[in-house]
Amino acid sequence: MALGPVSGLWERLSGWQQDQVEAAAKVEVKRLAGMLERPGDAPRLLADRLTDRLEETGGEALVTGPYGWLIRRGLLQRQACSDRRCDDGIRLDTGSECENCHNARMLSEVEEAAFDTERHRSVRSRVAAQQREAAYAVWGKHYAPYGIWHDDSPMTPGDRSAKESLGRHLASFPRPPGNAGPTTRG
Ligand SMILES: [Zn+2]
Repeated sequence: MALGPVSGLWERLSGWQQDQVEAAAKVEVKRLAGMLERPGDAPRLLADRLTDRLEETGGEALVTGPYGWLIRRGLLQRQACSDRRCDDGIRLDTGSECENCHNARMLSEVEEAAFDTERHRSVRSRVAAQQREAAYAVWGKHYAPYGIWHDDSPMTPGDRSAKESLGRHLASFPRPPGNAGPTTRG
Protein backbone atom coordinates (compact mmCIF):
# COMPACT_ATOMS: atom_id res chain seq x y z
CA MET A 1 0.00 0.00 0.00
CA ALA A 2 1.10 3.58 -0.63
CA LEU A 3 1.76 4.32 3.04
CA GLY A 4 4.08 1.33 3.48
CA PRO A 5 7.33 3.35 3.62
CA VAL A 6 5.98 5.46 6.49
CA SER A 7 4.59 2.68 8.68
CA GLY A 8 6.73 3.93 11.56
CA LEU A 9 5.19 7.39 11.33
CA TRP A 10 1.75 5.88 10.96
CA GLU A 11 2.06 4.19 14.35
CA ARG A 12 2.82 7.53 15.98
CA LEU A 13 -0.42 9.09 14.73
CA SER A 14 -3.63 9.36 16.74
CA GLY A 15 -6.73 7.64 15.40
CA TRP A 16 -8.08 10.93 14.06
CA GLN A 17 -4.77 11.75 12.40
CA GLN A 18 -4.62 8.30 10.81
CA ASP A 19 -8.05 8.92 9.28
CA GLN A 20 -6.92 12.27 7.88
CA VAL A 21 -3.67 10.87 6.46
CA GLU A 22 -5.43 7.90 4.93
CA ALA A 23 -7.98 10.19 3.29
CA ALA A 24 -5.23 12.50 1.99
CA ALA A 25 -3.32 9.51 0.59
CA LYS A 26 -6.45 8.24 -1.16
CA VAL A 27 -7.06 11.63 -2.75
CA GLU A 28 -3.46 11.78 -3.95
CA VAL A 29 -3.52 8.24 -5.35
CA LYS A 30 -6.70 9.04 -7.23
CA ARG A 31 -5.23 12.25 -8.58
CA LEU A 32 -2.06 10.47 -9.68
CA ALA A 33 -4.07 7.67 -11.30
CA GLY A 34 -5.86 10.32 -13.37
CA MET A 35 -2.64 11.36 -15.08
CA LEU A 36 -1.04 7.96 -15.55
CA GLU A 37 -1.32 5.70 -18.55
CA ARG A 38 -1.41 2.81 -16.11
CA PRO A 39 -3.53 4.07 -13.20
CA GLY A 40 -2.66 0.95 -11.21
CA ASP A 41 0.85 2.37 -10.74
CA ALA A 42 -0.42 5.26 -8.64
CA PRO A 43 -0.03 3.66 -5.16
CA ARG A 44 3.56 2.60 -5.95
CA LEU A 45 4.31 6.08 -7.25
CA LEU A 46 3.09 7.63 -4.03
CA ALA A 47 5.09 5.10 -2.01
CA ASP A 48 8.21 6.06 -4.00
CA ARG A 49 7.55 9.70 -3.26
CA LEU A 50 7.26 9.02 0.47
CA THR A 51 10.51 7.05 0.37
CA ASP A 52 12.28 9.94 -1.40
CA ARG A 53 10.93 12.54 1.01
CA LEU A 54 11.97 10.41 3.97
CA GLU A 55 15.47 10.11 2.55
CA GLU A 56 15.62 13.90 2.30
CA THR A 57 14.63 14.23 5.93
CA GLY A 58 17.07 11.55 7.03
CA GLY A 59 14.65 8.79 8.01
CA GLU A 60 11.53 8.34 10.09
CA ALA A 61 13.39 8.84 13.36
CA LEU A 62 14.18 12.45 12.42
CA VAL A 63 10.55 13.38 11.77
CA THR A 64 9.48 15.31 14.84
CA GLY A 65 5.87 15.95 13.82
CA PRO A 66 4.67 12.90 11.88
CA TYR A 67 1.23 14.29 11.08
CA GLY A 68 2.45 17.65 9.75
CA TRP A 69 5.28 16.00 7.86
CA LEU A 70 2.93 13.57 6.09
CA ILE A 71 0.27 16.12 5.21
CA ARG A 72 2.54 19.01 4.21
CA ARG A 73 5.64 17.28 2.92
CA GLY A 74 5.38 13.54 2.35
CA LEU A 75 2.14 13.33 0.45
CA LEU A 76 2.36 16.56 -1.50
CA GLN A 77 3.38 16.73 -5.11
CA ARG A 78 6.17 19.21 -5.70
CA GLN A 79 5.42 20.59 -9.07
CA ALA A 80 8.70 22.19 -10.09
CA CYS A 81 7.40 23.74 -13.31
CA SER A 82 4.17 24.52 -15.10
CA ASP A 83 3.62 20.89 -16.10
CA ARG A 84 1.10 19.34 -13.72
CA ARG A 85 2.71 15.93 -14.22
CA CYS A 86 6.00 17.28 -12.83
CA ASP A 87 7.10 16.19 -9.37
CA ASP A 88 10.52 17.47 -8.32
CA GLY A 89 11.64 17.57 -11.97
CA ILE A 90 10.52 13.96 -12.64
CA ARG A 91 7.52 13.24 -14.82
CA LEU A 92 4.89 11.31 -12.88
CA ASP A 93 3.51 9.60 -15.98
CA THR A 94 6.79 8.46 -17.52
CA GLY A 95 9.17 8.44 -14.55
CA SER A 96 11.77 10.19 -16.69
CA GLU A 97 13.25 13.65 -16.39
CA CYS A 98 10.74 16.46 -16.87
CA GLU A 99 11.54 18.05 -20.20
CA ASN A 100 9.99 21.32 -19.17
CA CYS A 101 12.29 21.56 -16.13
CA HIS A 102 15.25 20.46 -18.22
CA ASN A 103 14.62 23.22 -20.75
CA ALA A 104 14.16 25.82 -18.05
CA ARG A 105 17.42 24.74 -16.43
CA MET A 106 19.30 24.88 -19.73
CA LEU A 107 17.92 28.34 -20.38
CA SER A 108 18.96 29.63 -16.99
CA GLU A 109 22.44 28.14 -17.40
CA VAL A 110 22.81 29.93 -20.72
CA GLU A 111 21.59 33.17 -19.16
CA GLU A 112 23.97 32.76 -16.24
CA ALA A 113 26.90 32.14 -18.55
CA ALA A 114 26.01 35.23 -20.56
CA PHE A 115 25.76 37.24 -17.37
CA ASP A 116 29.16 35.96 -16.17
CA THR A 117 30.76 36.90 -19.47
CA GLU A 118 29.26 40.36 -19.30
CA ARG A 119 30.38 40.84 -15.71
CA HIS A 120 33.84 39.55 -16.53
CA ARG A 121 34.11 41.99 -19.40
CA SER A 122 33.04 44.94 -17.28
CA VAL A 123 35.47 44.09 -14.46
CA ARG A 124 38.27 43.72 -16.97
CA SER A 125 37.56 47.06 -18.59
CA ARG A 126 37.28 48.74 -15.19
CA VAL A 127 40.66 47.39 -14.11
CA ALA A 128 42.20 48.49 -17.42
CA ALA A 129 40.72 51.96 -16.95
CA GLN A 130 42.13 52.23 -13.44
CA GLN A 131 45.58 51.16 -14.60
CA ARG A 132 45.44 53.65 -17.43
CA GLU A 133 44.39 56.46 -15.08
CA ALA A 134 47.26 55.58 -12.75
CA ALA A 135 49.74 55.61 -15.62
CA TYR A 136 48.49 58.97 -16.87
CA ALA A 137 48.66 60.37 -13.35
CA VAL A 138 52.32 59.37 -13.10
CA TRP A 139 53.01 60.89 -16.49
CA GLY A 140 51.27 64.18 -15.64
CA LYS A 141 52.79 64.53 -12.20
CA HIS A 142 56.38 63.71 -12.92
CA TYR A 143 57.10 64.53 -16.52
CA ALA A 144 54.62 66.86 -18.14
CA PRO A 145 55.53 70.01 -16.12
CA TYR A 146 59.12 69.87 -17.30
CA GLY A 147 58.37 69.41 -20.96
CA ILE A 148 61.24 66.98 -21.12
CA TRP A 149 59.68 65.00 -23.93
CA HIS A 150 59.61 67.63 -26.57
CA ASP A 151 61.67 66.74 -29.55
CA ASP A 152 64.04 69.61 -28.96
CA SER A 153 64.37 69.10 -25.21
CA PRO A 154 67.73 67.94 -24.09
CA MET A 155 67.37 64.54 -22.48
CA THR A 156 69.70 62.81 -20.14
CA PRO A 157 70.08 59.05 -20.64
CA GLY A 158 67.88 58.65 -17.53
CA ASP A 159 65.12 60.80 -19.08
CA ARG A 160 65.30 58.80 -22.26
CA SER A 161 64.98 55.46 -20.59
CA ALA A 162 62.14 56.74 -18.36
CA LYS A 163 60.34 58.03 -21.43
CA GLU A 164 60.74 54.77 -23.25
CA SER A 165 59.54 52.62 -20.41
CA LEU A 166 56.58 54.88 -19.66
CA GLY A 167 55.74 55.04 -23.34
CA ARG A 168 55.64 51.24 -23.47
CA HIS A 169 53.54 51.21 -20.33
CA LEU A 170 51.03 53.69 -21.73
CA ALA A 171 50.88 51.92 -25.06
CA SER A 172 49.81 48.71 -23.34
CA PHE A 173 46.46 50.21 -22.35
CA PRO A 174 43.57 50.78 -24.70
CA ARG A 175 42.65 54.43 -25.12
CA PRO A 176 39.46 55.53 -23.36
CA PRO A 177 36.68 56.12 -25.88
CA GLY A 178 36.39 59.77 -26.90
CA ASN A 179 39.57 60.73 -25.09
CA ALA A 180 42.93 60.38 -26.68
CA GLY A 181 44.68 61.04 -23.39
CA PRO A 182 48.20 62.33 -23.14
CA THR A 183 50.53 61.07 -25.79
CA THR A 184 54.23 60.72 -25.77
CA ARG A 185 55.97 62.18 -28.69
CA GLY A 186 59.05 60.37 -29.84
ZN1 LIG B 1 9.01 20.05 -14.50
